[in-house]
Amino acid sequence: MLNLAIILEESARRMPGKTAVILDSIRLNYAELNGAANKIANGLANLGVRPGDKVAMMIPNTPHFPMCYFGILKAGATVVPLNVLFKRDEVRYHLEDSDSVALIVWEGFLDEAASGFHAVKTCRHLIVAQAPGSTATLPDGAIPLGSLLAEHAPVFDTVQTMPDDTAVILYTSGTTGRPKGAELTHANMFLNATICTDKLLNVSSETVGLAVLPLFHSFGQTCVMNSLIYAGGAITMLPRFEPQKALEVMARDRVTYFAGVPTMYFYLLNFPGADQYDLSALKFCVSGGAAMPVEVMHAFNRKYNVTILEGYGLSETSPVASFNHLDREPKPGSIGVPIWGIEMRVVDDQGREVPNGELGEIVIRGHNVMKGYYKRPDATADAIRNGWFHSGDIAYRDDDGFFFIKDRVKDMIIRGGFNVYPREIEEVLYGHPAIAEAAVIGVPDQALGEEVKAVVALKPGHTATETEIIEYCKERLAAYKYPRIVEIRETLPKTATGKILKRELRQIEVTA
Ligand code: AMP
Repeated sequence: MLNLAIILEESARRMPGKTAVILDSIRLNYAELNGAANKIANGLANLGVRPGDKVAMMIPNTPHFPMCYFGILKAGATVVPLNVLFKRDEVRYHLEDSDSVALIVWEGFLDEAASGFHAVKTCRHLIVAQAPGSTATLPDGAIPLGSLLAEHAPVFDTVQTMPDDTAVILYTSGTTGRPKGAELTHANMFLNATICTDKLLNVSSETVGLAVLPLFHSFGQTCVMNSLIYAGGAITMLPRFEPQKALEVMARDRVTYFAGVPTMYFYLLNFPGADQYDLSALKFCVSGGAAMPVEVMHAFNRKYNVTILEGYGLSETSPVASFNHLDREPKPGSIGVPIWGIEMRVVDDQGREVPNGELGEIVIRGHNVMKGYYKRPDATADAIRNGWFHSGDIAYRDDDGFFFIKDRVKDMIIRGGFNVYPREIEEVLYGHPAIAEAAVIGVPDQALGEEVKAVVALKPGHTATETEIIEYCKERLAAYKYPRIVEIRETLPKTATGKILKRELRQIEVTA
């Protein structure tokens, strides 16, 4: 028996009065956080949510996130964390695909969420989390989360799930195609968080960590929330990344641990006036999600006197697979060595391991690898072959066993640490009445790593401007995805079989 919620329950038992979460002036200790999660579990059970049911949540980084996350787990249900920026059709797709029976949403995202929710018959309950004192009116039939929290249920008998039961479904496109739900088990998530805390991150009950990475994504979920809750540390929350606010909170709460994507480091480093904030408490920094430019790493180290350790992983691997360990000299530019209990290899097209120094695809085996993609046996069989998970990342290993990522097999753009899947945007572009052909590519961007660019050709006799096309996408796609750059061409380069030559489009960008 193992329920991931044990990490919260144990910290609440060992140190009930210790601060668990902070959001500006709001503070909750471990007993309060665990008590709130118990009430949510009780409320969900009273609504008819059964073990094994899926419950989606669209909650930003606020204390409500861990309350709901652990409440759902305690009820024996599976958490389906969704990106809070999703628009109506994205919400509908994810609720339908995951078979979620309920959606818990933060009031600020209610419009898009409710409209997506109402389009899905099988999703029965819309539960709305509100800020204290909020007077917003809720749609008919919606349940305020506050009414669940007001119920008297300080104790709840956590449903005992098996280690192999699905704890969380994290949506990702994998190497190709539409978003798929990676089913991560209680054992996957428990082991990855506890290994992070015990072996990789320099965190303890004394740690104050900044949660600015979105907690709905695996990086923030495991490396910040779950690791710190297991350690009994304090998590100070920031719902959105704004460099000034991040610096303010880091100074105010004497943050000792920061985990972020390279773009965040870039902005923290280049924010005018950053020097006026006292970050002397900062001891430990971690980067992941995208390649960390070595210059940014060194400049950050010089400015704040703290080393950034880089790690690597994917939603499908809970996520951490490799890391520049504390007890080895880190190699800047490398994603480190496999973590405790995980095997990582570089293989050729036939799945044969290649010699050190040669490029191939990273494959991963171990207790962090997902069970599979929810309801997609074919995609699962494609991703996990002979027990090895195929990452779609191209890398080499050096003679010391450190891995270096060089490219991606998959058609994915990483914009400011967020993965953007061109196909999803191309589908929206093809819905535009004037567009005949569309290709979406990533173009280099100093701050974001990559920016999303759409190259389109118009139908004969139709007109559209770049700005109109950008606006069209903006209305239909989450803010981090829609293309900021659009180029209209007569026609797009194609192969003999008519496949658009994205490689050629990318090449033009790099050499331009
Ligand atoms: P996600 O499933 O959102 O966690 O995205 C996983 C992908 O992010 C990986 O397949 C890599 O392409 C990329 N990624 C993660 N960490 C790194 C890193 N340290 N360096 C380069 N790419 C990374």
